[in-house]
Amino acid sequence: MRFTIVKSIKAQQKLSRQLIRSGKSIAVVPTMGFLHDGHLSLIKKGLSKADIVITTIFVNPTQFAPGEDLTRYPRDEKGDLEKIKQAGSQIVFIPRLTDMYPDDYETYVDVENLTLTLEGESRLQHFKGVTTIVAKLFNIVQPDFALFGMKDYQQAAVITKMIKDLNWPTKIIVCPTVREKDGLAMSSRNSYLTPVQRKQATALYQSLILARQMVKSDERRPSEIRKSMRRLIKNAAPDSDIGYIAFTDLKTLEAKKEITKNTIASVAVNIGPVRLIDNMRIF
Ligand code: AMP
Repeated sequence: MRFTIVKSIKAQQKLSRQLIRSGKSIAVVPTMGFLHDGHLSLIKKGLSKADIVITTIFVNPTQFAPGEDLTRYPRDEKGDLEKIKQAGSQIVFIPRLTDMYPDDYETYVDVENLTLTLEGESRLQHFKGVTTIVAKLFNIVQPDFALFGMKDYQQAAVITKMIKDLNWPTKIIVCPTVREKDGLAMSSRNSYLTPVQRKQATALYQSLILARQMVKSDERRPSEIRKSMRRLIKNAAPDSDIGYIAFTDLKTLEAKKEITKNTIASVAVNIGPVRLIDNMRIF
């Protein structure tokens, strides 16, 4: 299929219907653009699952809290299109803001409990924006598969729950976090970092590695591991502001009283004005 850029919702719905009728399976990779190798790994995984991969680019205003970086979120549509084409995704859907959210828009999807902890605690309404836009994209694209990154593991868990609760036939696939050579999880927001902040940002990854090592050495107390992680982050990134260091269950996101199988350690750290998150399975 020829590389196709679609901007109208109706045109995308029609194209998806045609593909489905001709027996093609569809995978979708929802993104906010400014693509890096993490996004491209989702496209590659999608191509291994489905005939057609539809990459979407939409900087979704409803998932940004007031005062967050919506207006300065990095954009590079031309560069993104080149990367998407190179990666083999056949269709790019770039809806217009006023089509997705016309003035009289008033319908939202909300997963009630999984969204109360971690990111949801400090970013009010964030996940309601995420689930709403993903629900809308699924209705437009009609995918058999949808690919999300483990980097945003709570997001993947919330979307998986939405799919289950609303009986959506789409299969969610969660892909591993792609990292820079020094361990920093790739993120469009890394482009905000100054060279000094960029160096300090590796503290997140280093703290997660430390947590994993402590568990390997039989430490099972979250409080002790948190203390060591905090010390490491404060040493490596003196100007940082730690949002949370959490130990939760992979699926339920419940806080662990003791580190056991399926524990994910997650961190949110502000370095300068940039809020970075990362996580790792530590047991
Ligand atoms: P975003 O454009 O930041 O909204 O991300 C779009 C998708 O890419 C989400 O499913 C993210 O979890 C995923 N993603 C972002 N960064 C990475 C990464 N470093 N490795 C793998 N997936 C990622």
